[in-house]
Amino acid sequence: MIEYENLFLLNEPFMESYKESFSDSLNKGWFILGNKVSTFETEFATYCGSKYGAGLASGLDALVLALKYFEFPEGSEVIVPSNTYIATILAIYNNGLVPVLVEPDIHTYNIDPQRIEEKITSRTKAIMVVHLYGKACEMQMIMDLASRYELKVIEDCAQSHGASYKGKKTGTFGEFGAFSFYPTKNLGALGDGGALLSNDFDAITKIKALRNYGCHEKYYNNYIGINSRLDEIQAGFLSVKLTHLDEINFHKKKLAKLYQEGLKSDFILPALNEDFDDVFHIYAVRHPKRDKLREHLLANNIRTEIHYPVPPHQQNALKTRLKGAFPISELIHQTTISLPISFYHTTPQVEEVIEVMNAF
Ligand SMILES: *Cc1c(COP(=O)(O)O)cnc(C)c1O
Repeated sequence: MIEYENLFLLNEPFMESYKESFSDSLNKGWFILGNKVSTFETEFATYCGSKYGAGLASGLDALVLALKYFEFPEGSEVIVPSNTYIATILAIYNNGLVPVLVEPDIHTYNIDPQRIEEKITSRTKAIMVVHLYGKACEMQMIMDLASRYELKVIEDCAQSHGASYKGKKTGTFGEFGAFSFYPTKNLGALGDGGALLSNDFDAITKIKALRNYGCHEKYYNNYIGINSRLDEIQAGFLSVKLTHLDEINFHKKKLAKLYQEGLKSDFILPALNEDFDDVFHIYAVRHPKRDKLREHLLANNIRTEIHYPVPPHQQNALKTRLKGAFPISELIHQTTISLPISFYHTTPQVEEVIEVMNAF
């Protein structure tokens, strides 16, 4: 059986270093907001080419706090792609704001910059871009639009650790880069975690207060904050994994190249472009008979995933709130299938997937 993902095998090469880091935390007896968190914040910001980082409890919290920072008036609008993972949209609702969905480009699956302007109103305050599947958005056009309309840009980088656009890493274009360290992400912890990056010292200082009850100095509170701290043990694991992130991304790119060159033309493959250094968090292909294809792969002992089966505007939680037609998003959700592309997958395994795919 070729699994879609296996978190034991993915982490096995780093096990010894994890154990060292874990016993160091145990021996020190320091578990919340200590050296390991601040060290990882600096290392990760440096890796991405940003100045400051704040470790948080999850990717969703990173998005929630990035919006909370700005204190937009209730009912302000935030532009977001219609085919994102639901967390991006939940972060907007959790701040009492209104998501305005913009359709993706059918080739890149990222927000279509040509469709943003028509959705901007006097209430629009921000654009939340999502670098979906590990591919950066068209950041030049988006940043130009944002500065023309004085909108804040928040980047959802939960799938794009290390990905870049024209040589600049995702998470460094907007006011904030929001990251998730959920175990399956390219930089995954052994539990939940997240972070915000920013080049603005005051912004990160306020985020660090907001994640800790709004506290800027112990027992003195400036803001109505929450509890959303990355813990020391996860930060230690993340520092270990960060030293291997380039290797992980390189391996996934190598497997993606095998798919790209080996899959027959019946499948719609990811769009490649030299401006975008794609880290292939997910290798998604499209086919009109996606469900049959998935059954065929499973019958041949290959597990796949669907990212995602139901678009946000059709989710029970959101369908009465998100009005309008999103046919491009629906088409993607009906036809997309994600193939195995983990750090532990081997060339022969991917060659087997290609052979079974091409026999369909
Ligand atoms: C995983 C993910 C999130 C949420 O991250 P969590 O750490 O699970 O809260 C947000 N946005 C996107 C695009 C994601 O893939």
